[in-house]
Amino acid sequence: MASKMGGTTVIVGAGIAGLSTAKTLRQLGSTERIVWLGGEPGLPYKRTQLSKNLYRPLDRGEFAMIGSDELISLDIEYLSPVRVEKIDSVKKKIFYRQSPADPKSSSEMLAYSSLVLALGSIPLVDPGYYFEEDFLNLQRTLDGTSRQVRVFGSGVLGVELAEQITRRGHKVTITCRGRYPMARELPNPLGNRLLGLLADHGVDISFGVTSPNLDPDSLVLSALGVQPQTLLAQSSGLHVGAGIKVNSFLETSVEHVYAVGDCAEHEDGSISHLWHQAEEQGEYAAKRIWGESTPFTPQIFRTKAEFFGQRVFSSGIIHQSPEVDKGDVFEMWSNAGLDFWARFRNERLIGLSFIGDWPKDFGKWALQGVREGWTREGVKKSL
Ligand SMILES: Cc1cc2nc3c(=O)[nH]c(=O)nc-3n(C[C@H](O)[C@H](O)[C@H](O)COP(=O)(O)OP(=O)(O)OC[C@H]3O[C@@H](n4cnc5c(N)ncnc54)[C@H](O)[C@@H]3O)c2cc1C
Repeated sequence: MASKMGGTTVIVGAGIAGLSTAKTLRQLGSTERIVWLGGEPGLPYKRTQLSKNLYRPLDRGEFAMIGSDELISLDIEYLSPVRVEKIDSVKKKIFYRQSPADPKSSSEMLAYSSLVLALGSIPLVDPGYYFEEDFLNLQRTLDGTSRQVRVFGSGVLGVELAEQITRRGHKVTITCRGRYPMARELPNPLGNRLLGLLADHGVDISFGVTSPNLDPDSLVLSALGVQPQTLLAQSSGLHVGAGIKVNSFLETSVEHVYAVGDCAEHEDGSISHLWHQAEEQGEYAAKRIWGESTPFTPQIFRTKAEFFGQRVFSSGIIHQSPEVDKGDVFEMWSNAGLDFWARFRNERLIGLSFIGDWPKDFGKWALQGVREGWTREGVKKSL
């Protein structure tokens, strides 16, 4: 555990995990030096908004996570774009290059007392759609073509791309490996409703293709997922599996070095890949640096999306698997144009999903229900 007094916390990675680490340290009252390094040019932005606003000109200012005034008032030194290339964990120093694209640019050194790696992910297939530049390039390509578009991958990003590109006037086909899109997040009946929604708006779904079956007339896009960014950790001798390995305190194999967000692989082998989970891990790392002694406990899983004006929400334990589901009761009902799906264990709510045109604070309602383990009557009465 690091000391509260003096020193420098260096945070590498200017996504939500890095930001929440820096802000939480200040909220806790830390007066030590905080240096935050980002790999992308400009101020940190919400990358989640890129795929939700592709149908119109992207304005990064709108998606800013923090402005320069707030960085100054919080006394957070923000350096970007830089590439951190090496960690010397014995001397507790990192080495970074100020012009990442120029291998001849000089290498700078920074000493740390605590180091937080918040390095995020990289797309599994290149070109992928992760950084602002990827989406700007995609917009330019779409502007210059009237070709049909084929999206490989039917997770949230694949469906978002299909929806946004349809709204730009292109004919889109999604290639789906499972029985319906967003199969990881949605139970079967709601997945079928999503299929209907996409069909109603002219999106085609093709099933069962496991490798790109290139149609020469289509523009092919890949949304086949991401993997943790582990390069820096690996080359610096940290333990790495699918992600940077952390213990239940989000500490890596090297003392005073933490890993948070999408780049971290937890003791149970899980990797989060979700915004709010990256945020809560960053908050926890700051608390640990500040002296927290209880292990990190993730909050309830939740995800939401919006397609063609219909919102999709999922929280808690969703999927049916015979080994762990014995005795669980599943229930589905409709109310005011919304389809609900709930899962109960020992008569208590453990998972809740819905799709339809629901008010924004419905997500909070669902989370409260899962957190408090409402009964069936409790769920329906609270609607
Ligand atoms: C288009 C898109 C839409 C998404 N939509 C949703 C959504 O609706 N809901 C949801 O829950 N999740 C969504 N996600 C996932 C979510 O964005 C991620 O889980 C979250 O951003 C992870 O945050 P992070 O801070 O761990 O990493 P990131 O946001 O990936 O940030 C990591 C940063 O580290 C920098 N970096 C890496 N290596 C180095 C280095 N060596 N030196 C310097 N800098 C470095 C990178 O440049 C990057 O800026 C979406 C992701 C994408 C790409």
